[in-house]
Amino acid sequence: MKTIVIKIEDNQEISNREKIHTAGKLIQDGGLVAFPTETVYGLGADALNPDAARKIYQAKGRPSDNPLIIHIASMESLEKIASFVPPMARKMAERFWPGPLTMIFRKKDIVPMETTGGLDTVAVRMPGHPVALELIQAAGGYIAAPSANTSGRPSPTLAEHVAEDMQGRIPMILDGGAVGIGIESTIVDFSEQTPMVLRPGYITLEMMRQVIGELKMDPGLIEENSDVHPRAPGMKYRHYAPRAELVLVNGAQEKVQEKINELVRNAALSGKTAGVIATDESCGYYECGIVKSIGTRRDEDTIARHLYRILREFDQQDVDMIYSESFSSLGIGQAVMNRLRKAAGQRVIEV
Ligand code: AMP
Ligand code: MG
Repeated sequence: MKTIVIKIEDNQEISNREKIHTAGKLIQDGGLVAFPTETVYGLGADALNPDAARKIYQAKGRPSDNPLIIHIASMESLEKIASFVPPMARKMAERFWPGPLTMIFRKKDIVPMETTGGLDTVAVRMPGHPVALELIQAAGGYIAAPSANTSGRPSPTLAEHVAEDMQGRIPMILDGGAVGIGIESTIVDFSEQTPMVLRPGYITLEMMRQVIGELKMDPGLIEENSDVHPRAPGMKYRHYAPRAELVLVNGAQEKVQEKINELVRNAALSGKTAGVIATDESCGYYECGIVKSIGTRRDEDTIARHLYRILREFDQQDVDMIYSESFSSLGIGQAVMNRLRKAAGQRVIEV
């Protein structure tokens, strides 16, 4: 299959609309289209068409028990797929939609089991990216879309990343340039009494508590509980991972830097090339290895935005090892650390 990449251009509203409509038609006909959202690039199919949903699993090599998020463009669409939307979830939608928040509800029959990985609940998000919103409307209102990477690899934050993984596997990529946020949406389950966070993301616990008060954190997400399975099926797999072995070093800044220098020297002695994930503040401290700044600690949004791109760049440079500094466990840092731990397959050195 030949993959066409279609570029969305700044200030070209009319021709962009035509392009997005062609893509929407392709989805209505049961095909797959990768498209930009504000979090990461998604791989979209008609969420209400079981055959189309199945194609997503094939293209990604995704385990069939890992459900897809349905992307909508209006609140009316939510009523058609969720059998009960609690008032608290409506408040969350008012505050955070369109935006990087996914909510889980009991599903209606119209949503096929192929989309929900066999579950009787459905994950729903209204994305904030204008291309995504227009595409959803052009495709009939419901796009099932996981991140547009091969299963297990870092999520795509550029159309070029999508092409790396999906070239020849899907008919179309809409190229909307670099995404703004860079890590996946926050997921909150509203299908039970007390809302529960199943995946940390850009919308933090503190932001949500201000809107609805108490929320629980999935016990399966807390690192010490390695024998408790996370409730979002996707969170149990090694994920977001580069090909090189990633090791996270955690502790006081100076000690972390010393330790990483030692690890990089040792790697070199055993003939291995090593990459270092540093920050604008620490870049200069490292003596050898391929050192990349992921962003600045003064604004951890920048760290989230560059994480996946840096992991993919190290893959292209064919490093054997990647050593990464750790980030704060508050705010967006919590989501960054969750992804880094998963990418590291829990290889964390405490100093
Ligand atoms: P992705 O879109 O690739 O970032 O993955 C979507 C995430 O949402 C995965 O971790 C899924 O397991 C999770 N998810 C989707 N639907 C549900 C659901 N109904 N219940 C729990 N988790 C879900
Ligand atoms: Mg994903």
